[in-house]
Formats: sequence, structure tokens, C-alpha cells
Amino acid sequence: MPARVLVVDDILANVKLLEARLSAEYFDVVTAMSGPEALDVCARTQCDIVLLDVMMPGMDGFEVCRRLKADPATHHVPIVIITALDQPADRIEGLEAGADDFLTKPVSDVALFARVRSLTRLKMMTDELRMRAVSGHQIGMEAVAADTILDDGLNGRVLVVDDKAASRERIERALRDRQNVEFEASPEEALFRATEDEYDLLIVSLAFAEFDALRLCSQLRSMEKTRHLPILLIAEQEDTGRVLRGLDMGVNDYVLRPIDPNELIARVMTQIRRKRYADRLRTNYQQSLELALTDPLTGLYNRRYMETHIETLAERARQSHRPFSLVMLDIDHFKPVNDTYGHDAGDEVLREFALRIQHNLRGIDLACRFGGEEFVIVMPDADIATAQAVGERLRAYVAAAPFLVSNGETRLDVTISVGVSTRLDGDRPEMILKRADEALYRAKRSGRNRVVTAAA
Ligand code: GH3
Ligand code: MG
Ligand code: MG
Repeated sequence: MPARVLVVDDILANVKLLEARLSAEYFDVVTAMSGPEALDVCARTQCDIVLLDVMMPGMDGFEVCRRLKADPATHHVPIVIITALDQPADRIEGLEAGADDFLTKPVSDVALFARVRSLTRLKMMTDELRMRAVSGHQIGMEAVAADTILDDGLNGRVLVVDDKAASRERIERALRDRQNVEFEASPEEALFRATEDEYDLLIVSLAFAEFDALRLCSQLRSMEKTRHLPILLIAEQEDTGRVLRGLDMGVNDYVLRPIDPNELIARVMTQIRRKRYADRLRTNYQQSLELALTDPLTGLYNRRYMETHIETLAERARQSHRPFSLVMLDIDHFKPVNDTYGHDAGDEVLREFALRIQHNLRGIDLACRFGGEEFVIVMPDADIATAQAVGERLRAYVAAAPFLVSNGETRLDVTISVGVSTRLDGDRPEMILKRADEALYRAKRSGRNRVVTAAA
């Protein structure tokens, strides 16, 4: 799918010119000729990037940018401000409005395609993360959006890889009030530091005499730890060929010498905001994955995960003519534990019980917390006799030694009742669970602290 680019300009000739150049590179181009029209297009269709003219009658580009960046539905869409005036003040205002990038008219092909490609690539990566996170954990996503809208892109930890004193000083002067800047003159040492420490951005000079700085960039991209670390190149005017090669290998942005401090400030802030956004998305995804699968108290799989897993395993057992059994366990008289020693002591018993289960299982068995003080062990490749033996072993192991709670001050004798069932021909997965539950009920009724097997 080609990336969709929204071109916004109040002058038809400008719109047509950009549209032609982008279409020739196989982008899917949509256009708008005013601020309100641009907002309308963004509300109706998914755009992957917006190229936005600043000077427009009525609502100017800054205002359009502010509105898109304040809306959780569009705050992640990259915006490139295009200005006819090469005014530092415009860049700052664009930055404050939340723009991701800047282009100055007349826009060169190198700059246009470099920025559009790198921003759409980044958007696709974040879309993927957003999509996974949204399906898992909607509430977390709203927090991510809110944090990102509020993030000012300041106080990042930046490593500048440059061996020229004058150039380092220029960079330091531009950034020191906004970012925490460190310097490194040796590219080898920079690689080491980038993998050992947590940086938000690397600024790499292309002007090393003895060393091709692009090699450092490619090494950074190939290593797990630094794969997502943003890289910004500092290049000479005549170095655009190497800049393009860098962008192809995943460098995020570049600034040409002589360095314009405002441009450097703006591009650094943008990279840092983007990195933090992607980090938040990744963390959120990780958390939602774990939340979706496991029970926070015991760390065992949760019921939802187990129920989907049983479907797969039961089907596999059917196809391979292998046995498949379930063991359902419930702590006896657990309510009085809570009532007598408190809910926290009850939680400790549940955690200790989960540990005892885990110590007694094969690698392919799957233990999960089914609810409250009820647990299920899913046993692929185990017939009913094996499952019954496992149930009995666990029952004995729980009853054999008291549970220590409240820092070892209280010793509790705990017992469990166990129901065991196995898959029969033509069984639906929920039927196997139901028979285990019925067997468990009989174990309770007939005196507890025992194992009962469902009739085959
Ligand atoms: P039985 O032998 O018939 O199973 O009796 P029981 O008391 O164990 O069973 P019952 O179903 O009456 O009570 C279960 C108790 O488990 C009630 C509930 O408060 C407690 N419980 C459920 N989840 C948790 C939890 O996460 N932590 C704690 N501490 N208690 C829990
Ligand atoms: Mg119970
Ligand atoms: Mg119960």
C-alpha cells in the first residue's frame, strides 16, 4: 500500500506541483486548499503524512498543525511545515505547534523525498504498534496519546559523535539549555557507549577524516539494543549522496553545515519526542501482552488465555489421536483463611500454591488460575491415569507441609480437592472442563482433600 500524502496549500500551482512530484514516486496524493478543508480531509481519511503550507488566509498552517496534534485521533500523523520564508522564527513557531519537520520553498527533491520517506516509514512502524496495543489495551493507549501530546521533547540524553572542537562547541551552544549533551570523539567508543547506556538520540558528524561515519550508523542499526535509537547526521552541503545512503539504512534525519542552531534545536526535539512516543507504545504493548495472558497475583496463565489454548490443544489431540487431560484444583475451606488471617494472607497462600503447582509439572503442562482459588492444569499427551497421578501428587505435596504466611509467623495447613477429566471422542473443549468441574464437586462432597476422576 502506498503511503497517502495530504498536500495543503492555498495556491493551486503549488498544490499541483507537489502532487505531480509525489505521484511520480507512487505516493497516493490527496489535496486541500485551506486549513478547514485539511482538517476535514484528516477527519474523513487516514493520511500517513501532511505537507502543510504556512501562509494561508483564514486559518494558517500553524493553527492547522496545532489542531491536528491536539486531537488523539491524529496526533501521531507526521506533519511537515512548508514555508516560503526561510525564517528561524517560523521554524520555532512550527515546532511549538507540534510540527515534525520543516521544508523551505523551493523544496529540493532530495529533501522532499528523504523527509517524506523517513516519516512515512516511521508512521508505519508506529501504526503497527498502535494497532496491536489498541486491540490489547485501549486504556493504556489513551495514556500514551496524552503523554505524547504533553511531551515537550526537552531534557533528552544526547550523544554527539564528533571529533572537531569548533563543531562540538557550536552544537553544545545550540542544545545545552534544552538537552543533556555528551560528546564522544571516537566512533568505536561511541558504539560502545550507545550499547551500554540509555541515550535518546545520537548526533553523528559525517566529517571524520579516518573513519566512515556511515559504518557506525549501520552497526547501530544492526544491533538489537540500538536498533530504535534515533540518529541525526551532520553533513557538508556537498555530502547529499552520503546523506541519502544514510537515510536508506535507517538514519532518521540530517542537518547541513553551516549548522543553523534553530534547525538543529527543532530536529533534535522532534527526534526525541518520536523516540519517547515509540518507547511508550512498545512498553504499552508489552504490558498489554502480559495482562492479556497472565494472572497478576500468581503469574500463572489466566482463564482467558487457557480457554483459547484448550481449543487449540484439544483439536491437535483429535488430529493426532493423542490423549489430552485436565486437572482442576480448588483450595479447601479457603474463605476462613481470609476471614481469620486477612486477605493479604489469603493472597500469600494463593501465590505459594501456584509455586507448588509449578514445581510439580512437566514443561508442556500449562498451569492457570481459573478464578478465585480454583486452578486448572492442561496436560497435552497425558491420559487419565497420568493426570490422576499428577493430581494425587499435587494433593499430597500441598498437604505435606504447612504454608508460611505473614513473614513466617503463621503456619497454615492447606488441603486441596481435585477433579480430573480426559478428552473423549467428539468432545467440545468446554465439555472436558465441565466434567473436571463435576469431578471436583464430588471430591468436595465426599470429604475434601482428595482426587476424583470423571467417569470415562
Ligand atoms: P470449599 O472448600 O468449598 O472450596 O470452600 P472455600 O471457602 O474454599 O470456597 P468458597 O468458594 O466459599 O470461597 C472462596 C473464597 O476465595 C472466597 C473469596 O473471598 C476467596 N478469594 C477469591 N479470590 C481471592 C483472591 O484473589 N485473594 C484472596 N485472598 N481471596 C480470594
Ligand atoms: Mg475452595
Ligand atoms: Mg470455590
